Amino acid sequence: MHIFQEKSNRRGHIEVICGSMFSGKTEELIRRLKRAKFAHQRVEIYKPTIDTRYSEEEVVSHDKNAIASTPVDSSAGILLSEAAEVVGIDEAQFFDEGLVAVCNELANRGKRVIVAGLDMDYKGVPFGPMPGLMAIAEEVSKVHAICVKCGNLAYVSHRIVDGDRRVMLGEHGEYEPLCRDCYNKEKQGQ
Ligand code: ZN
Repeated sequence: MHIFQEKSNRRGHIEVICGSMFSGKTEELIRRLKRAKFAHQRVEIYKPTIDTRYSEEEVVSHDKNAIASTPVDSSAGILLSEAAEVVGIDEAQFFDEGLVAVCNELANRGKRVIVAGLDMDYKGVPFGPMPGLMAIAEEVSKVHAICVKCGNLAYVSHRIVDGDRRVMLGEHGEYEPLCRDCYNKEKQGQ
């Protein structure tokens, strides 16, 4: 994974970390938040209540790296983070569209806002508030998984089990990262 340049002396801004499943975006979010904590900055972390794959109160990445977080029902709940200097948000694609305005407001109040989420759903469609967040962010880091078919950089999280619910959560076995070519071949084969 790339080591991203961080401008931690810059006040009030938005960073977006996006990519497919298994791209390491939650790991990158956790890395940035832990560094802020080591620097004695006040950090608060939020995730949507829907993301209860492994733990109710922790942001957990696929490699079990965990950091304590607060589950909230809607983006408005994040605005309550008055004391935080750094606000982390995981699985942002599952939040309502109001998250864009919420992140803007937090940045305007001088907070560093770090948002991680899926850029696209399993059909390759931009996911929830992510495109709006990417547009207003000062910094966007697109991270990539490796295509399981050919080893190129992956582009999308292809669903390999039945089901049409967009909010199905990504545990191992449900999705596989594919590059554009391999994804298109899979679609043609169906
Ligand atoms: Zn491929």
